[in-house]
Amino acid sequence: NKIIIAIDGFSSSGKSTMARALAAAIGYRYIDSGAMYRAVTLWAIRNGMVSDNGTIDTDRLVADLPKINIDFAAPDTPGGKQATLLNGENVETEIRHMAVSNAVSPVATIPQVRSRLVALQQQMGKEKGIVMDGRDIGTTVFPDAEMKVFVGASAQTRAQRRFLELEEKGSAVTYEEVLNNVVQRDHIDQTRTESPLRQADDAIVLDNSTMSVEQQDKWLLDLYHK
Ligand code: C5P
Repeated sequence: NKIIIAIDGFSSSGKSTMARALAAAIGYRYIDSGAMYRAVTLWAIRNGMVSDNGTIDTDRLVADLPKINIDFAAPDTPGGKQATLLNGENVETEIRHMAVSNAVSPVATIPQVRSRLVALQQQMGKEKGIVMDGRDIGTTVFPDAEMKVFVGASAQTRAQRRFLELEEKGSAVTYEEVLNNVVQRDHIDQTRTESPLRQADDAIVLDNSTMSVEQQDKWLLDLYHK
């Protein structure tokens, strides 16, 4: 019997990596809910709705929501990376840029953005056998998910990992910029009114600060088999 697996946690906690690995190992579909918030943010940036000081033109963005379609292209290989599609365009690379990371948490506080994306996520979950990662999957999107995990590690550890990842991709970003972004996003995500980032009461907590990728993948797979 296929189930729904919710993996929530702080920014850059490695939850996407472990969620994707688990999905590949057990033949489930992986859905990155953060990518959906990032795609909406990219639309806002491209259409001049994010000012230099970071203010979002909420009214215009909300009015545009019916025009924004988000979907995922199946990965080329099983367990491979999915591509996020914004109105059919592959924006997988662009949504990871720092400009998007800096504006995404304010965009994710907008209730109309959340209700639209949550509805879409619930639709995707109608077909069981999914692993979805995010901030509110175990609390708001799928409160009845059969398996819930909440992932955390210190902000420094998370920023260091994210920094190395971006550096590897040739990004000129500094560690301080990444740390600031991680701390900022955590704060906005935890203090927003609409489904703030918090641990579901029935979630199993994982602090992966001292774990390797292999160790955390094994931890998650073992939990699934329990
Ligand atoms: O997971 P990722 O870091 O890519 O998510 C980007 C941002 O999208 C988060 O910092 C958060 O503000 C928002 N988000 C959210 N709810 C989710 C997933 C992401 O508010 N379920």
